[in-house]
Amino acid sequence: MTSLAETTVIYAGKLLAVPGKAPLVERTVVIENGLIKSISKGYTKQSEFASDTKIIDLKNSFVMPGLMDMHVHLQFELGPDRTKETLKMSDELMAMRSIHFAQKTMRAGFTTVREVGSNPQYMYALRDAINKGWIVGPRIIAAGRVGITGGHADISGVKHELLDMYTVKTICDGPYDCRRATRRSIKFGADLIKITSTGGVLTDRATGTGQQMEMDELKEVVLAAKRMGRKVASHAHEEEGIIAALEAGVDSIEHGTYTGKKAIKLFLKKGAYLVPTLLAGDTVVQMVKHSNFMSDAIKEKAIRVGTDMKGNFAKAYKAGVKIAYGSDSGISRHGDNAKEAVLMFKAGMTEMDILKSATVNAADLLGMSDQIGTIEEGKQADIIATDGSPLENIEELLTVDFVMNSGKVTH
Ligand SMILES: [Zn+2]
Repeated sequence: MTSLAETTVIYAGKLLAVPGKAPLVERTVVIENGLIKSISKGYTKQSEFASDTKIIDLKNSFVMPGLMDMHVHLQFELGPDRTKETLKMSDELMAMRSIHFAQKTMRAGFTTVREVGSNPQYMYALRDAINKGWIVGPRIIAAGRVGITGGHADISGVKHELLDMYTVKTICDGPYDCRRATRRSIKFGADLIKITSTGGVLTDRATGTGQQMEMDELKEVVLAAKRMGRKVASHAHEEEGIIAALEAGVDSIEHGTYTGKKAIKLFLKKGAYLVPTLLAGDTVVQMVKHSNFMSDAIKEKAIRVGTDMKGNFAKAYKAGVKIAYGSDSGISRHGDNAKEAVLMFKAGMTEMDILKSATVNAADLLGMSDQIGTIEEGKQADIIATDGSPLENIEELLTVDFVMNSGKVTH
C-alpha cells in the first residue's frame, strides 16, 4: 500500500476516463495525495518523475473509474443461518463481519457503495473508520431507515418479545411521526434516508408487495430530509407505490419491479433514478428452488417479484429512465456485485450504459459528481482495471485485477 504523500503514476493502455465517451489509449495518470493530478498522452518517462515515484504498469489493461453500487446491505448475507445469527451472533462480531463484507466488495472493484439497510449505527461507524483511514474499505454512503409499523423496514419473522426488542426508533406512523423519524436519522449520522413505500419480499409476513406508506408520510419524509440536505431512496415493487414515492419527490426508486407506463412517465418528468437490483430477483428465485429456509409468506413473493423484475427494467431502460447500478448484495453474496452487470446486459442494456450506470450516474445520484465517477483532474483516484475491455465483454467486470481507492492500491 502506498502512503498518501507519495506520487503514484499509472500507465494505462486503455483508459475509459469518462464512461459515456470513447476510451482513450496510452495515457499517463498522475496521482498525488489521493487525487488525480494530471492525465497526459503517451507514457511519460520514469526519469521525469521524482526517484521515489511509484509506477504502476497497466499498459495491457483496461482502466476505468471505480465501480459504484447504490444498493448494498453490508450487515448480512441471506441464507439459512440468518435468523439463527440474530440470536447467536453478538453485535460486535456482526459489526466485524461487516468490515469483511465491505472489503470483499471493494476487492471486486466497487470503490463506493450506498448502504441502504443495515443497522445504521454499524454503518456510520464503518463509514467513519474508513474515511479516517483506520481500516481499508470502500467509500460508504450510509442511509438511515425510516418505515412504518409492520412495514418492510420493520422487524419480522421472530417471536413477539423479540419483535418489541428489535423495533427501532425510526419506525413511524403518520406524517408528524415520520418527520420525527427522519430528523432522528439525520441526527445520528444518516447521509440519506431510505424508506419503503411498498411491501417487500423478505418481510416474513403475508402483507404483499403493494403500497404501504401513505402519501402524507412519504411527503413529510422527503420534505424533512430535503430541509437538511439529504436525499431519499425508496424501496418499491408495485406501481402504485412507485408512483406515490415519485410524486412525493424521492431521488431514487429501488427495485421498481412493476414500473409500468404511468410510472415511466413520472420517472422521466421527475428525473429520478431507477436502481433495478436484478441480481436480488434472480437470487431469491434460485434460493426458493434450491433451498428450503424461506417461509411460505416469503416464497410466494420471491417467485413473483423475482420473475417479473427483468422485463419491466428493460421497458424502463428503453424508455430512457435514468438507471443507477445497484445489486442488493446481502441478498446475493458480497463480492458478487458485478453479476448485476451481466443481468443488465442480458436484459438489453448496452455495455457502455452499464458502465455509466455504475460510475457517472451513480455519482450524480449521490450528488458527488464533482468528486467521483470519472477519472479527471482533481477527482478522487478511485481506479480499477480489467484484462480485457468490458465494452466488448461485460463479464470482464467479474474479474477486476486492480483496485485503487483514493490513491491507495487495495487489490
Ligand atoms: Zn435491499
